[in-house]
Amino acid sequence: MNYQSEVICNGFTISNGEMQEVGVGLYPSMSLLNHSCDPNCVIVFEGTSLFLRAVREIQKGEELTICYLDVLLPSQERQKQLKEQYCFACDCIRCKTQDKDVDMLAGEEPFWKEVKDAVDTVEELQSQKKWEQVLATCQALINNHKDRIPDRNIYQLKMLDCAMDACINLSLWEDALLYGRRTLDPYRLYYPGFHPIKAIQIMKIGKLQQHQGMFREALETLREAFDLLKVTHGRRHSLTEELLTLLGDCEASLRVTEEGLLRLEGQDSR
Ligand SMILES: [Zn+2]
Repeated sequence: MNYQSEVICNGFTISNGEMQEVGVGLYPSMSLLNHSCDPNCVIVFEGTSLFLRAVREIQKGEELTICYLDVLLPSQERQKQLKEQYCFACDCIRCKTQDKDVDMLAGEEPFWKEVKDAVDTVEELQSQKKWEQVLATCQALINNHKDRIPDRNIYQLKMLDCAMDACINLSLWEDALLYGRRTLDPYRLYYPGFHPIKAIQIMKIGKLQQHQGMFREALETLREAFDLLKVTHGRRHSLTEELLTLLGDCEASLRVTEEGLLRLEGQDSR
């Protein structure tokens, strides 16, 4: 094996707290962890420190596993990537049963293929921070195929996600929330249990609700994110601390709003 392929096989993509990729690092002891498409551990970063965290109960003697890939891929594509990048075939239960492949590729194929073909273009525009173009492209695809592709189709989901991020960057908060909300059920489907990506997505939606003064909804969403984040990132992670601050702010805003309403009602009955 030459040096370069060893880096690809054993390096870890370093994500920041919000799971955006920021680089690749070599962590020799972590390279001993095997892959599963349904792993019992996840890796999260705080700066360049790497944390291995259990996301479910692990029996004594049970092997620790992590997922080397994005789980939003049907089994055939996961197999292909694992073969090409890591030189092995996965025989986990999800691959054997082709778990959720039907959901991931739901909808009329010619239409979602068109969306799939646009993913590279959208990602390219995203990397160049051309947010107006990202939004226009995603919006056109989402609107053109209304009712033909459900939101749980992974390519449609990708468009919704990119549209939300573009809206956030363009300060179009209401639209960001509309797109973001549609990703929640598919995220809950594809990232069951404790998953950092789902936790961060839910936190993002909670922030958008809070920003728009929907404090009651925001509180519920942020609490759901907190229940996940305290497992996936741990209570001392900076992201969890940020979330706790948001929760405190949200509770305070809700109290102020409700006290205001009570005062108004009191005035009405006088
Ligand atoms: Zn697998």
